[in-house]
Amino acid sequence: MAVQRKTSQRAALLKAFELAGRPLSPQEALDLAGRHAKGLGIATVYRNLKALADRAVLKVVSLPGQSTARYEMCGKAHHHHFHCRLCHQVYEADGCPGNIEPLVPKGFVLEDHEIVLYGLCAACKPPSPRRRR
Ligand SMILES: [Zn+2]
Ligand SMILES: [Zn+2]
Repeated sequence: MAVQRKTSQRAALLKAFELAGRPLSPQEALDLAGRHAKGLGIATVYRNLKALADRAVLKVVSLPGQSTARYEMCGKAHHHHFHCRLCHQVYEADGCPGNIEPLVPKGFVLEDHEIVLYGLCAACKPPSPRRRR
């Protein structure tokens, strides 16, 4: 019984990540997965997210200035993130501008990079003012 429940909670969490298609904080994961997994609590979510990250099913997305880490599914193509300043949801930004070698200080070796875009998501963006003629 306990094992069954553990499995279904984990499955509900993974389903939440699949459906969201964007990085989720533990609270967001709980909100989405909680509908499908009875009795799911934030402590269980934290534990499961960590376990899934340890198994390289999920990976941690840490953003500058954010104390709450987000998680996303492993194995996605190289991409970056968009952080909405209003709702604090994090979205995937497809692709990469590439060619950032020119930014690297002379004599340094570039190993990796992160690019975070900031702004307002489509849901938070104020409606554009109507043009009057
Ligand atoms: Zn937003
Ligand atoms: Zn990139």
